Amino acid sequence: MTDYPHLLAPLDLGHVTLKNRVLMGSMHTGLEETKDWNRIAGFYAARARGGVGLIVTGGMAPNREGGVFPGAAGLFSAEDIANHQRVTDAVHAEGGRIAMQVLHAGRYAYSPECVAPSPVRSPISPFPPRELDEAGIEKQIADIATAAARAREAGYDGVEVMGSEGYLLNEFLVTRTNRRTDRWGGSYENRMRFPLEVMRRVRAAVGNDFIVIYRISMIDLVPDGSTFDEVLQLARAMEEAGASILNTGIGWHEARIPTIATSVPRAAFTWVTEKLMGHVSIPVITSNRINTPEVAETVLAEGKADMISMARPFLADPDFVKKAAEGHGDQIAPCIACNQACLDHTFSGKISTCLVNPRAAFETELVIEPAAEPKSIAIVGAGPAGLSAAITAAGRGHRVTLFEKSNRIGGQLDMAAEIPGKEEFRELIAWYRRMLKREEVELHLGHKADVDTLEGFDEIIVATGVRPRNPRIPVQKGANVLSYQQVLREKHPVGRRVAIIGAGGIGFDVAAFLVEPDHPTLHLEEWLREWGVTDPERARGGLAPEGPQPAPPARQVVMMQRKAEKPGRRLGKTTGWIHRATLRMKGVEMLSGVTYERITPQGVVLRIGEDAEPRLVPADTIVLCTGQESERTLAESLAAEGLQPHVIGGADQAAELDAKRAIDQGTRIASKL
Ligand code: NAP
Ligand code: SF4
Repeated sequence: MTDYPHLLAPLDLGHVTLKNRVLMGSMHTGLEETKDWNRIAGFYAARARGGVGLIVTGGMAPNREGGVFPGAAGLFSAEDIANHQRVTDAVHAEGGRIAMQVLHAGRYAYSPECVAPSPVRSPISPFPPRELDEAGIEKQIADIATAAARAREAGYDGVEVMGSEGYLLNEFLVTRTNRRTDRWGGSYENRMRFPLEVMRRVRAAVGNDFIVIYRISMIDLVPDGSTFDEVLQLARAMEEAGASILNTGIGWHEARIPTIATSVPRAAFTWVTEKLMGHVSIPVITSNRINTPEVAETVLAEGKADMISMARPFLADPDFVKKAAEGHGDQIAPCIACNQACLDHTFSGKISTCLVNPRAAFETELVIEPAAEPKSIAIVGAGPAGLSAAITAAGRGHRVTLFEKSNRIGGQLDMAAEIPGKEEFRELIAWYRRMLKREEVELHLGHKADVDTLEGFDEIIVATGVRPRNPRIPVQKGANVLSYQQVLREKHPVGRRVAIIGAGGIGFDVAAFLVEPDHPTLHLEEWLREWGVTDPERARGGLAPEGPQPAPPARQVVMMQRKAEKPGRRLGKTTGWIHRATLRMKGVEMLSGVTYERITPQGVVLRIGEDAEPRLVPADTIVLCTGQESERTLAESLAAEGLQPHVIGGADQAAELDAKRAIDQGTRIASKL
């Protein structure tokens, strides 16, 4: 008897039965653009082998103007079709099924050639779109239908027509972007015409024995979005026009409400999908921030959807479904929804991978094989670098001993887990703990390893991490100055008025910790209120008319940095705005271009820009978040003895250190020993 009877139940679609209720949602990994078809096929085949019911590919452009960026991949030639056939063959060989997403980006296309129902520029694009005329509209419909037909030719089991997130089909639906007065605009019947015509023509092009998913925007989260009645009307019409499944889309890309970041509560939007249940007779898929089989099972058991879409969790662990089905759900590497190695990479033009699993999309390059000759390996430091090295090396058959001077594992991850909105880090540490046990790593907590301890090991890995940088600002007697570690780890008391020196990732985290009296991520109602999300039946697009209602800040906080740039500019590409908005809502003041004079019992004395006179920023507590330096004492002692340890993580390089680099380095070094 499985723990996940709903999740693992087959789904009968008439002409085909999916083996379970798990869909791997579409992600743009950048792999298709590499044209390395071995690697692409390997990536999807690994997920099929892992047991997922249906895979949806990254979005494929139906034509040049509809590509997310110039040169975006699509099925444009016989060669493209043959290449995609290699992918579908590889997935089918593993017993999997795969659908291709057809994505017309509309005005979100990062190109001067972009098109839209009306010439209304998006706030997140520099390119004003060209308004489509009748012939242009017909061309877009025909091109989408052709892409679907070619997908069938390439051996796909279906297509997903992207109708949400503010892309072209979605743009036709709402007056925000559709100002037309012809038969494609005005009344809702007219605005619906384009997506419906697309669905009819796609169905006609692919025949009846082919899966056609429509990704419907259930809650736009932008002004002048759809009402829920309109969503219902569209859903029913889509069923009639030939859709086999409806998948949920939450929020446009330009929405200023987080929808998938780690600070979004788990399964935060399944209540929106649930509103559709019973109104259509085709299966309905829900998505967003579902990352464990337990959460997915509960959502299905509560009747909130017929199927679950998860995307990033399949980067973190391709074997998600297999492990759940075999009773090893606790071994699933958790996606912590950080976006650091997936979406942030996509938006920086890099191949997506995963912070937790550096092998994601690098399966053919980062190969982990049993060790030719088992060795005894000592690892010092149980932060992300040391932990990933330990489980990888032990998994390969080495005998691994892990020393950690504190009495808990996690290192910097352990501090991150204290931050409101970063609770998932706790799950990652818990997973590492389970994996250390499973891989029989000998763990010594509260053990400060020295040269003598490390004698006799075949290999030594030093992952001793970082120590906070002392900014060397003069401090007057009586000033209450704390390091971020004293605040987050040691829980030293902090006053009502706080000055944070340093506005990097940790400065932002500490500010969030100090202003947020609670963990709204763990309380859905509170979180929805904080961000101004309401029932789309109550207000268009689900935006609360009263706006965001954040709880009052627990403290008055000022952050400061010497650089003249906007604080937080270097935070994650897809999450930085969320951190900035969260602190803005809590009234956190941010100062740039400062020169520190001294810290006094009354606060921080500084100058801003060209100020002639220093000024006092009053504060009861001053927290130093001024970066880190490598902790290399042990590495240097070992070197002095003529030993050659492998130095990884923060101990190797402290600048811009993050868990992504630490885990990647730990995994790679252990794959070679
Ligand atoms: P960081 O990002 O390098 O920031 C250090 C801050 O301290 C900067 O604001 C810097 O600004 C200031 N600073 C540096 N030297 C100083 C000095 N001598 N005197 C006064 N101020 C000084 O380091 P971090 O905040 O410790 O973060 C460490 C790593 O973890 C980073 O890679 C970060 O991206 C990552 N992280 C990311 C997040 C996130 O994305 N949310 C969260 C936590 C950590 P000025 O030089 O302009 O004064
Ligand atoms: Fe999830 Fe972060 Fe990995 Fe992306 S990088 S898949 S968000 S854990």
